[in-house]
Amino acid sequence: MPSQNLLHDTSDRHVQVAILGGGLAGLILARKLSASADVMVIERGGSQPGAPDPDSAEGEASGLPYPFADTRDFRLGGSTSIWAGYCAEFDDFDFAPRDWVPLSGWPISKSDLAPFRNDAARLLNLSSVDFSPQNIVKNATKPLPIDLPGLEVTAWRFGCPQLNILEQWDLQDRGLKNVRIQTRTRVIDIQLSTDHSAVDHVLCLTDSGNTFRLHADVFVLAMGGLESTRLLLTASTQRPEGVANSSGMLGKCFCEHPHLSVDGFSIRPDHPAALLADRGLDNQDSPFAICIGVPEHEQIEREILNARAHIYRTPQMDFQEPPRLGIFLEQCPSLTSELSLSRKQDDAGIPHLALNWNINELDKHSFIQTARYVCEALEAAGAGSILSRLEPDAIMPDMILHSNHQLGTTRMSAERELGIVDADCRSHDHDNLYIISGSVFPTVGWANPSYTLALLTLRLARHLEAELKGISS
Ligand SMILES: Cc1cc2nc3c(=O)[nH]c(=O)nc-3n(C[C@H](O)[C@H](O)[C@H](O)COP(=O)(O)OP(=O)(O)OC[C@H]3O[C@@H](n4cnc5c(N)ncnc54)[C@H](O)[C@@H]3O)c2cc1C
Repeated sequence: MPSQNLLHDTSDRHVQVAILGGGLAGLILARKLSASADVMVIERGGSQPGAPDPDSAEGEASGLPYPFADTRDFRLGGSTSIWAGYCAEFDDFDFAPRDWVPLSGWPISKSDLAPFRNDAARLLNLSSVDFSPQNIVKNATKPLPIDLPGLEVTAWRFGCPQLNILEQWDLQDRGLKNVRIQTRTRVIDIQLSTDHSAVDHVLCLTDSGNTFRLHADVFVLAMGGLESTRLLLTASTQRPEGVANSSGMLGKCFCEHPHLSVDGFSIRPDHPAALLADRGLDNQDSPFAICIGVPEHEQIEREILNARAHIYRTPQMDFQEPPRLGIFLEQCPSLTSELSLSRKQDDAGIPHLALNWNINELDKHSFIQTARYVCEALEAAGAGSILSRLEPDAIMPDMILHSNHQLGTTRMSAERELGIVDADCRSHDHDNLYIISGSVFPTVGWANPSYTLALLTLRLARHLEAELKGISS
């Protein structure tokens, strides 16, 4: 990786746009803005895996277990060095308010993100923006069975090659050459202007122990869901509740995509549906996979959250073993599922994260209903047999796995009192502060978040281009 534009000096400075965090969102944004603005990225990591100070990536989990250090990376390029590459679209109704889902409804709709689909697909190395399983399978070089009556059939696409920014992006020549990137530097504090209406500067700490102030016209927090929330909570010298937190919603509504296996169902290994444990190849030999769920009208009827089931094998399983059925669940926004600060501090004096991740009755109800619906439909199709009926009390905490998606804790809302950022990802409280991470998702659908995050980032880039033109004219 060329290093000419990676800076190591530590004098105070002023830039037009300070992007805090050089992961998926931060570097997509930097790339888009590089032609029109003076951009600087502050990135905590370098090219080595994990946090430079491993203890600082740890946290305390008081609800469901959460292995903090393994759920994100601190390299330049962020978690794209370790992600699994599953890309999926949010459904239209994931953006809409639903009577039975508290705090549901985005202030934007899926169509607001549509203009950015081609660009997002290109950046993620996807062969197409068409996620329709029927269209993918029609001309596929390795098709998969999708004729499963009664079930919503959905596709995941994977980049070819799967995006790994650190390995694949030439930081000099691919639209990032005008961007200054300071690696191995951690943003540790945010200082507001005297009237608190804007961010004045952020304080940065280099690995060699130097600090400097970074002033900017616009600050964009792009440090991932956990670290962005942590910095806002930590920066409490001027606002005891933390920066951007007049609503008190900062850290609340922590959502993951809980994954649960459905043990009471046996898949027939000789049925075509068993092939869904494998990946197909589309007409450009790019990988895709298929998952199945409860159609929208049935979700409305049952008042359940969105979810998808998948047929899978773990690497540990013998190939002769029949594949298993598992469910990725949309988690309901809940005030009691909360990210906060621990009393314990890391070596830089920054409090560790404390997480009380828990699922509520609607989450459990939705899992049971989805599992029953999918199992009955698969059994009716001859794809397997129900061995035991799932009962709500069968859900044990140790069945619930996390998916490495940290969402909801700086939520987007039209009303100031219900969130942290507005529809443009701008803080409700501080005019020149933006947040771009999965933490702005007010509800989280079932889909893996990175494709939607890329769309939101591209939309933010367009907004900032217009905003910066306004500032300079
Ligand atoms: C194992 C794993 C598998 C995954 N699989 C998938 C998948 O299949 N599909 C999918 O959609 N998503 C997946 N994800 C999630 C995906 O990686 C994230 O959605 C995506 O990377 C989020 O982008 P981001 O820019 O918000 O954060 P990141 O990409 O994590 O980048 C944040 C950056 O901010 C930097 N940073 C943090 N704190 C500071 C600080 N104080 N100062 C300066 N810089 C800081 C970090 O070093 C990092 O580079 C997976 C994640 C993991 C860990």
